[in-house]
Amino acid sequence: MEIVLATRNKKKAEEMSRLLNGLDITILTLNDFPYCPEVEEDEDTFEGNAVKKAMAVARCTNKIAVADDSGLEVYALNGAPGVMSARYAGENANDIVNMEKLLVEMKDMPDEKRGARFVCCIAVVSSATESSDETTEIFFGYVEGRIGREPCGITGFGYDPVFYPAGYDRTFAEMSPEQKDALSHRGDALRKFKDYIKKTR
Ligand code: IMP
Repeated sequence: MEIVLATRNKKKAEEMSRLLNGLDITILTLNDFPYCPEVEEDEDTFEGNAVKKAMAVARCTNKIAVADDSGLEVYALNGAPGVMSARYAGENANDIVNMEKLLVEMKDMPDEKRGARFVCCIAVVSSATESSDETTEIFFGYVEGRIGREPCGITGFGYDPVFYPAGYDRTFAEMSPEQKDALSHRGDALRKFKDYIKKTR
């Protein structure tokens, strides 16, 4: 079986491939299908964006497409940056600028108000065949934690250097990829996806 990861983000593709390791599947990415158009992530939920991306890629490649939409929700900011996580500081923002904006927004927040979680929604779309319709499956994953006061660590991506998973005094960016996988929202969602594949094959 072949699946296409609907992402051009190299780090995310690496994480997802690592987490899907052990299944008898060939993992392709959008880099194998350069002709697939970019999909605008303009829905207001993680699920809406994940389904939109997976559907576009399944239709373009005629293969099973797996898309992830994920982000950080800070409780004291009413769930922001949320679906805007990648563009928190503006359309062309990068990870560092987004993280700086978050730290500035939260600079006067006491420790007990710094709770947050990462959310990941995985959508899996199988393209229609002569004998079956297009199908969509959704898997959610979460990790609870808190936001630090300054970036720590150099691994991972996005808000990893300021996110302390609950029960740890190290950020995701201070953990090995394997440690992050065991705790992360993406790990949680992809393990549910893996269980589903094992049950249905
Ligand atoms: P997406 O590519 O639209 O899913 O955007 C996800 C954004 O959320 C990323 O650009 C990061 O800013 C943030 N994000 C999602 N997952 C993680 C993670 O595992 N670590 C750090 N930041 C993340």
